[in-house]
Amino acid sequence: MKQSLIGLMPEDISNLLKDYPGFRAKQIFEHIYSGKKTFSQMSNLPKDLRAYLDDNFSLYNSEVVEIQKSIDGTEKFLIRLYDNNLIEAVILKDEERLTACLSTQIGCAMGCSFCKTSELGLVRDLDSSEILQEFLHLIEVNGKISNIVFMGMGEPLANYSNLSIAIRVLTHEKGLGLGRRKITVSTCGLVPKMRRLAEDFPQVKLAVSLNSCDNSKRSEIMPVNKRYNLEELKNAIKEFNDLTGKRVTAEYVLLKDENDSSGDISKIVRFASGLNLLINVIPWNSKDNSAHKSPSRRDVEKFMHSLESAGLKVTRRQSKGSDIDGACGQLAAKSRKN
Ligand code: SF4
Repeated sequence: MKQSLIGLMPEDISNLLKDYPGFRAKQIFEHIYSGKKTFSQMSNLPKDLRAYLDDNFSLYNSEVVEIQKSIDGTEKFLIRLYDNNLIEAVILKDEERLTACLSTQIGCAMGCSFCKTSELGLVRDLDSSEILQEFLHLIEVNGKISNIVFMGMGEPLANYSNLSIAIRVLTHEKGLGLGRRKITVSTCGLVPKMRRLAEDFPQVKLAVSLNSCDNSKRSEIMPVNKRYNLEELKNAIKEFNDLTGKRVTAEYVLLKDENDSSGDISKIVRFASGLNLLINVIPWNSKDNSAHKSPSRRDVEKFMHSLESAGLKVTRRQSKGSDIDGACGQLAAKSRKN
């Protein structure tokens, strides 16, 4: 298979084209992220270089095979990769902006009990080209996208090297030119990589999947807690706050009768003490034969009110795409079975 030039920085492209002047690599880089899909469309390159590129390299090695559209504007893209694996990328719409939700792995090894993607296990990491192709497919259909969240299939920090290359290209002024503040990386709590992200990309935002502040409950819902417990997670969040000056969002999937008791609330308040933390409550929406139960609207309001009364900053994530295969990994998992 020919190497894709998507996901390479201008200096990397230059290293592959030693017989050509360095500015040609910069031109190719700009062409790729201005939407050119073939080398022949790069009309300011000499003919012999275009032929050389065609013979030795590729651009896209993935294709969109399905787009599901929700009545709330959410669009879920099913993308087939060169090896026939399927991944998802999602467009979330509100009045002010379009946000892309991107995948970083095929499947995931982290085993969170509420997650469809975890049912696949980890198939493989996406390379930086595949991650960027997701975004390029989304902008081809939707035009300008202002924000990116790495919250799709996979644990982004478990594929750190490809994630970091993708962020560099996304934010390169001649690449996609996105502000680093417009990017959020979500993690289940891979503590050492949280530190690395803060050092490498202090402007990028961080979201941590919290879901319980009781070690034994959290280990049950999220096995990663056996590797990095709540004390280590709290230290890493504090370090992220201090290094970046940024608030961290703690995602809290509210599971009826599991993590919503008054004892759970007290533990969240203790955990949040000393941290710059926003608790984002995500009411579990049980479809299928889920092992978890959905809280009622009243349960959610009571839970949020208790946290707010204790002085915490709290928001509620609105459910998006509930009329399509909305949960992360649901569409890819279904298409795999068919
Ligand atoms: S929630 Fe995220 S980290 Fe957990 S299994 Fe799903 S994709 Fe992996």
